[in-house]
Amino acid sequence: MSLTFKDISLPYMTTEIAHTIFPNWSKLYSLDELERLFPVRDLPKKALVTRISPSPTGMMHIGGIFTALINHQLAHQTGGIFYLRIEDTDQKRVVEGAYDTIIDSLIRYGLTPDEGPVRQSDGKVTEVGVYGPYVQTERKKIYQSCVFDLIKREIAYPCFLSEEELNDIRIEQTRLKLRPGIYGTWARSRNFSLNQIKENFDAGKPMVVRLRSPGNLDNRISWNDGIRGELSMPENDLDVVLLKSDGIPTYHLAHIVDDHFMRTTDVIRADEWLPSVPLHLQLFNLMGWEPPRYAHISALQKEEGSTRRKLSKRKDPEANVDYYDREGFPQQAVFDYLLNLANSNFEDWRKDHPDVAYSEFPIELKKINKAGALTDSVKLKSISKEIIAKMGIDELYENIILWAKKYDTKLAVQLEIDPNYAKQVLNIEREGERKSKRLESFSEVRALIEPFYNDSFLKDGSLPFPKSVSREDSQMILRQFMENYDTSDTAEQFFERIKAISEELEFSPSVKDYKKNPSAYKGHVGDVAAVIRVALFGTNKSPDIYEVAKTLGWDRIQKRCMDGITALS
Ligand code: GLU
Repeated sequence: MSLTFKDISLPYMTTEIAHTIFPNWSKLYSLDELERLFPVRDLPKKALVTRISPSPTGMMHIGGIFTALINHQLAHQTGGIFYLRIEDTDQKRVVEGAYDTIIDSLIRYGLTPDEGPVRQSDGKVTEVGVYGPYVQTERKKIYQSCVFDLIKREIAYPCFLSEEELNDIRIEQTRLKLRPGIYGTWARSRNFSLNQIKENFDAGKPMVVRLRSPGNLDNRISWNDGIRGELSMPENDLDVVLLKSDGIPTYHLAHIVDDHFMRTTDVIRADEWLPSVPLHLQLFNLMGWEPPRYAHISALQKEEGSTRRKLSKRKDPEANVDYYDREGFPQQAVFDYLLNLANSNFEDWRKDHPDVAYSEFPIELKKINKAGALTDSVKLKSISKEIIAKMGIDELYENIILWAKKYDTKLAVQLEIDPNYAKQVLNIEREGERKSKRLESFSEVRALIEPFYNDSFLKDGSLPFPKSVSREDSQMILRQFMENYDTSDTAEQFFERIKAISEELEFSPSVKDYKKNPSAYKGHVGDVAAVIRVALFGTNKSPDIYEVAKTLGWDRIQKRCMDGITALS
């Protein structure tokens, strides 16, 4: 039997090429070694291994938390693992501080990963888990080992096309109305001989490693997407870059290597990667690895007039995770809101399970909106209002203090001077029959409590005392109110006293009676109460006036009534 040239030369030549490109080749791992280093996880069959793998390029987008939440829930509800991987291969886009932003946003929303970089109680970040490193730039040796193997197997090759050449190719393809990219005859380094490679390499020409794509556009590849169902696209025929000139991989290579060796079962990621699935499946196939299941989440949407668009990092403050913290929406509210966006049956589930942790909600990929969930600030506020209304007063107070220490230190100081008074103020109308849900977020606290702390409004001549009541009568009302007020009054006794004052000053104690015969009275009990309300609270709208008075306490009542009398003179 005679051997052809290709038979004998290829393994030898490709090994030579691989050795040329990786002079440190003897220090690289073999694929078998990597398999042993990162063994298949010992988890129950149905357990999902999921990940969130953000790039540290700036702020944390709420869409990132949305994706993390879905991944986190699915892993934990199946007894699996949810891990964090930092994808910093695009070094040019890495922003200082973004790494901490990612780690801390996840912690803040209770999405602390089971593996990956985690902040410890001493404030330092350390890696947890045995499938790391979990930061891509620290995994160079792993990627290079895989590329070394691909080159040896003639699946990848070094490409020396310069920026200028690539640009010329692009121009030429546009002129000829051809698809852009390196494929077919455009892949000019594809068949370089060992000598050509060595020459280029020795001349120090910038080099990348490209996939030698065996794909054909006429063939289609099908797969099942966890959210979108059965999908099919043409095979990939592009010789995409796998390893950049700085030895750092592209997303495509890093994705398959990491998700294989970190033993991810389900890649649930943003839909911008959907068009790359044929390439990713091709790469898994060429490596001889089983691909993970894929699910692609569409970007969160926002309604603008009658159109919908993607929630925008630049235009919409609510795209930034920090917004929710700064506005003071409780974390649980943000979660319930996001789960509500993810699965529309969450709302019914929440009604049936009002006190169950959100993490018990059985999230389903299939129920995620294919076109992108529509954000809804009204919904967020109403969820938040319910959650705040449910908090015990101590819990509410603690939460507000925590928030205020970060975003409104003056408020924190004010509330901490007399915690009991602060709690009484905050608790107004939160209990009993007249329960009302007044707070939508912690940033509303300042305005809500202001009249209880600050009575300078009485110095303001434009107080809305009812015009139908004369100044003299208003002063009399306040005097009588002070004389009669008893701190131990029940609500009923309190209102009886106001009626008695009305009667004495010739105001009708009943609005109904007044309406029957208005000329018989100076006004009615509502006018009398309005005078008291304005003196105590500064406005003609306030929470229940009995609760307001009880909270203010005798000293404040006295002072405010006296100041009111002065303001009226
Ligand atoms: N680093 C990628 C990004 O931020 C993550 C994509 C993925 O989840 O695989 O878009």
